[in-house]
Amino acid sequence: MSRFWNPDLQNLSPYVPGEQPKLEKLIKLNTNESPYGPSPKALAAIAANTNDSLRLYPDPDAKALKEAIAKHHGLNANQVFVGNGSDEVLAHVFVGLLKHPNKPILFPDITYSFYPVYCQLFGIEHRTIALDDQFAIRVEDYLECSKQYGGNGGIIFPNPNAPTGRGLARSHIELLLLQNTDSVIVIDEAYVDYGTESCAPLLHNNPANLLITHTLSKSRALAGLRVGYALGHPDLITGLERVKNSFNSYPLDKLAQVGAIAAMEDQAHLDTMSSKVIATRSQFIKELDALGFETLLSSANFVFTKHPKHDGARIHQALRDQGIIVRHFKIKRIDQYLRITIGTDEQMNALLIALKKILSA
Ligand SMILES: *Cc1c(COP(=O)(O)O)cnc(C)c1O
Repeated sequence: MSRFWNPDLQNLSPYVPGEQPKLEKLIKLNTNESPYGPSPKALAAIAANTNDSLRLYPDPDAKALKEAIAKHHGLNANQVFVGNGSDEVLAHVFVGLLKHPNKPILFPDITYSFYPVYCQLFGIEHRTIALDDQFAIRVEDYLECSKQYGGNGGIIFPNPNAPTGRGLARSHIELLLLQNTDSVIVIDEAYVDYGTESCAPLLHNNPANLLITHTLSKSRALAGLRVGYALGHPDLITGLERVKNSFNSYPLDKLAQVGAIAAMEDQAHLDTMSSKVIATRSQFIKELDALGFETLLSSANFVFTKHPKHDGARIHQALRDQGIIVRHFKIKRIDQYLRITIGTDEQMNALLIALKKILSA
């Protein structure tokens, strides 16, 4: 705290990212990074552009990248917005599309913990909608809440949701879209490549109020490059461009742009890595079942699990003591749960051995 801070800053509780410890030997299963490397074509593109051309500013519009993303989704480049990680894209979305003068925006009570931080930073009123007792999102609850309050300033949730990993079928979101036409619906598809139906095909009909965000940080294994994007109606994209150009004209550096283009074009690599993670996830959940854990159905590259007889915080700490980091949230409804990123088979086996030791201690 300092008396020189803007008063708004004093009351802010910033987002706390999962730690990135320096220790080499740790098994790091806390931030949902890919255990496998990015597309070799992305690395080659970055290497090939690491030269004198870096003295020049990059393309502020990242036109070639938008075209590659549009092509991947069968859309037009004017339906694509790109940013420095999807967190930055989301920040612009909150400012540009989810801020309403007198209606609250809606998101789940248990969800990506950055959303309430953006609301606080940008002074956006929000209401949370409880997940059901199976930790699922029920779109009826959003419609019901809107009815009660005379509308909403927008709706946002991840699909699959984080940190639960539970996915929602596209038909539910279509229903929401049909009935909620006066505000923007944002679907954060950070983990969509691990077995959830993407809503991107709905954009072929060009709905006015659907926006979908994606990241290259998870399934494309490029968290270090910081690239995310949004897909939606050209008018929504234009709104985001206005925010971006009032903040930072060059959010994506040259290397990020060329690397991301190559990554978007390497579908085979994406498919191989996602299938591997999905196979490891199924096997890992079976092993957790055998140890008595209760694990939510996961459509993501992580699982959300608890043990009926062992405290979540205690398991979290005991794993740490053995050099394995998973994520634990000190939030009432989920404080017995651990969110465990799916790593390599070898990492998951090491984790299972550690868990067996902890449970029998
Ligand atoms: C990881 C994650 C993001 C942010 O991804 P970046 O592109 O790395 O900023 C956004 N939303 C959810 C739900 C995430 O889990």
